[in-house]
Amino acid sequence: MSSNVRVRFAPSPTGYLHVGGARTALFNWLYARHTGGKFILRIEDTDKARNTVEATQAIYDGLRWLGLDWDEGPQLENEGEYGPYFQSEREAVYLRYFEQLKAAGHLYEDGGAWRFRSPRKTVVLEDLVCGKISFDLSNPMTHPDITIRRPDGGWIFHFVNVVDDIEMKMTHVIRGEDHLSNTPKHIELYQALGVEPPRFAHIPLILNRDGSKMSKRDQGASIAGYIEQGYAPEAVRNYLCLLGWSPKDNREVLDIDEIISLFDLPKINRRSASFDLDKCYWINGQYLLQMSLDRFAELSLPFIDKAGIAYGSPDALKPVLAIVKEKIKHLNEVPAWIGYFFSDAVEFDAEAVEKTLRKPGAAGRLNALAARYEALDAWTVEALEATLKATAVELGVKTGELIHPTRVSVSGRSVGPSLYHMLEVLGRERTVRRMRKAAAELAAE
Ligand code: GLU
Repeated sequence: MSSNVRVRFAPSPTGYLHVGGARTALFNWLYARHTGGKFILRIEDTDKARNTVEATQAIYDGLRWLGLDWDEGPQLENEGEYGPYFQSEREAVYLRYFEQLKAAGHLYEDGGAWRFRSPRKTVVLEDLVCGKISFDLSNPMTHPDITIRRPDGGWIFHFVNVVDDIEMKMTHVIRGEDHLSNTPKHIELYQALGVEPPRFAHIPLILNRDGSKMSKRDQGASIAGYIEQGYAPEAVRNYLCLLGWSPKDNREVLDIDEIISLFDLPKINRRSASFDLDKCYWINGQYLLQMSLDRFAELSLPFIDKAGIAYGSPDALKPVLAIVKEKIKHLNEVPAWIGYFFSDAVEFDAEAVEKTLRKPGAAGRLNALAARYEALDAWTVEALEATLKATAVELGVKTGELIHPTRVSVSGRSVGPSLYHMLEVLGRERTVRRMRKAAAELAAE
């Protein structure tokens, strides 16, 4: 399906990419994908004093991570890859429109700055989300003429935003409700330029659970934070979809293809969205549980590499990830859960050692079980379990008195995947060696 729909995400690179900006990008992207239209990225970087390279990078990183690919822009070196449009590179376009407005008598100079003379009429907006709104702009005290060019020649947001939406043939402007009060001024500019304005859809504000407006400093506000903590991008994207939209049937975990087919602008809520980090966390857990092992491995790999775990080949990694997967809540936890599978330099948790290994008789029990494991015919989960239970009966102890010290002796930790699965993956040689080593060290104390 293709259509003439053209939408854009037009961030100003002045801070990091936050949840509100990402949600705006996402709704534009969803609408483009729903209609078969085009999604464009335009960096609104005319405010040189406030723009940073890092902020621009955070926008790319965040959009790429969320899978919000854009369809157009200056061709990059790699075939089929596009850069975004930068307003800072479009000076000639703005000058052309500036001259047009000036020649038609819409501008006047005031203290070196150029202002747009409002026609002082009522502007009616038929917003696709907020409905019909009339703005009475007759009073210059409450609606002063807007500046479009500073005395230093720099452009003001309102002007370049409108010019680019015209030049880039935007059919819809989907942006945060905080821009609603700018829209009548923008419509005046369209009218002065003799261009039909695009359709507008102002999407609801995002509030904290206590009703305050979500700010950049609130927990969970930065997209980079989700990347660092190891959220699954598809889970965060799913959560962001619910900030102002829902499938209307109480479902919260939905495949992106289904969201794309259900999404539409009139279905966006008018009420403010409430940001709930606990829900995002829960959705992330659901995604990790349901995810294929291949995808889990792909998402875990950057964290494993960063931790410097020498896992050898992906073939060695997969069985380990398979048994820890259900325990992981954030992917940045993966290294701590798998390190001991790939290095004999096991890090022992002091409390776990104290509570299990330092119990009277633990060394003897470890040696007894190690001997039986050494002699085991088949190194399987079933055989490992049956042998441990039989050994407990023989020694006259509870199974826990074998399970806990064994777990700590091979992994250094008191929590982990199912013990028998863990031993099966670790293999006979390493299991027996680590059990005996722990026993010997305890005996020597
Ligand atoms: N640069 C503006 C912003 O970041 C864009 C507003 C719009 O989407 O029109 O808020």
